[in-house]
Amino acid sequence: MASHPEVVILGAGLAGMTAAYHLRDRDVVVIESRDRVGGRTLSGEHDGYWYNSGAQFVWDARTVALCSELGLDVLGGAGALSAVFVNGKLAIAPDPNRLFMKMPVPWVEKARFGLTITRLRRIASRMHGLDADLDAKSLAEVIGPTSDITRDILEMATTSGTGLSTQEVSGAIGLGYAIHLFGGDVNSTLKAVRGGTQQISKAIAEAIDPERLMLECKVESVTASGGGVKVRYRRGEREQEEVEASICISAMTADAVLEAMPDLPEAKREALQNVLPYAPVVTVAWLTDEPGTMPWDQLLAVPAIGLSFELLSNNAFFVRRDSTTRRKGGSLVTLATGPRAEALLALTDEAIVARVRADLLKMFPSERDVLERATTRVERWRGLPRFGKGWLGRQKVLREPFGRIHFCGDYTAQPGTPGAVGSGYHAAGTVRALLG
Ligand SMILES: Cc1cc2nc3c(=O)[nH]c(=O)nc-3n(C[C@H](O)[C@H](O)[C@H](O)COP(=O)(O)OP(=O)(O)OC[C@H]3O[C@@H](n4cnc5c(N)ncnc54)[C@H](O)[C@@H]3O)c2cc1C
Repeated sequence: MASHPEVVILGAGLAGMTAAYHLRDRDVVVIESRDRVGGRTLSGEHDGYWYNSGAQFVWDARTVALCSELGLDVLGGAGALSAVFVNGKLAIAPDPNRLFMKMPVPWVEKARFGLTITRLRRIASRMHGLDADLDAKSLAEVIGPTSDITRDILEMATTSGTGLSTQEVSGAIGLGYAIHLFGGDVNSTLKAVRGGTQQISKAIAEAIDPERLMLECKVESVTASGGGVKVRYRRGEREQEEVEASICISAMTADAVLEAMPDLPEAKREALQNVLPYAPVVTVAWLTDEPGTMPWDQLLAVPAIGLSFELLSNNAFFVRRDSTTRRKGGSLVTLATGPRAEALLALTDEAIVARVRADLLKMFPSERDVLERATTRVERWRGLPRFGKGWLGRQKVLREPFGRIHFCGDYTAQPGTPGAVGSGYHAAGTVRALLG
């Protein structure tokens, strides 16, 4: 028998759950293919520490406000040292400016890097929102000719944030990532949700009626039906079931939208194809048991150049900073994105761990025992939609409703959690207005 809610939301990632939260007073059903909420946010616990195998940090005002409404603590990175691994060495300093001075690269290279960053910051300061002229160029075209080391550092920053190289990423999107590392107070920009980023979706799941959440149900088709929308889904191996609703919010990934909605207009299909394939990300969580202090204790995020991963995220930093005595153990996460993830994907989990550990030891050569004893969790993601050159020109089509189907998700708005939360919020607002 078909059920008939007012609104059916497809996908229980951050976008879908944000939409569900803002429509929680209405008759809403959420359909999700996984056995859990949170999508590309996935958090675990280890001996009093939490860790994120998916999204690490949040930063935008709307996500922070949502967390506070949900009663979740958002923790800033104050007190963390700045660090970068470059030219085979780990440079650490109290702040980004002094880190720049300490970077182990020749002065002439440093000067060229400094000039490029200064120029990019000037361009960014003139931008009001996302700029169409910059979007029509790749970030590499915005940067122009530069030195090898500058290119390597900016490449690492944009790949880490978007999965794309400087040649591929939209100039408007890539600029923010390029200047982030040395463009201000990174540690106070990056914030963590206590308990892990997945807590946002888990808290929303608790705030809405649990009966409205249908997990392990894969959406197979979404079609117009009378004055509403018919969604067919499958629970495991069972027969197809269906839901008919007045309005649908699709918060699935772009590939799932294409698969479930073959009748979309050609322009929309093309725009969706353009954000595919999502860039791969391979994360390894390192759950450690050391009894005393570690060289990474005061580091929060360490970008790395020339290793099998481009970011080391010290998830335990927040727990440790807020306690008076140092608790035993810790949790680190390494992230490999784009080409670095591709290189790891062909390997077994054991081989990934061995390769990443060998590189972690280049950063922290004295900590072999701790890293060899660590329990590890490998996670493989089709992680980041392509915000390539010209993406902004396709944004309107990506967002456009199709009949009574509305669309949200990071790929419709901007990379990361701000895009997911913001688009879920807006989709809920539009749908509420239509429901009256
Ligand atoms: C390893 C990693 C690290 C990241 N780090 C950061 C970070 O530090 N900061 C940041 O801001 N962002 C980060 N991101 C990006 C961030 O996680 C995403 O942008 C955000 O979570 C996307 O949310 P979403 O709801 O748009 O999509 P998703 O979270 O992908 O949600 C889509 C949901 O739809 C479901 N679905 C798909 N197909 C179907 C179907 N057929 N039927 C039913 N359900 C379906 C999926 O299972 C999923 O739950 C990271 C991503 C990864 C992978």
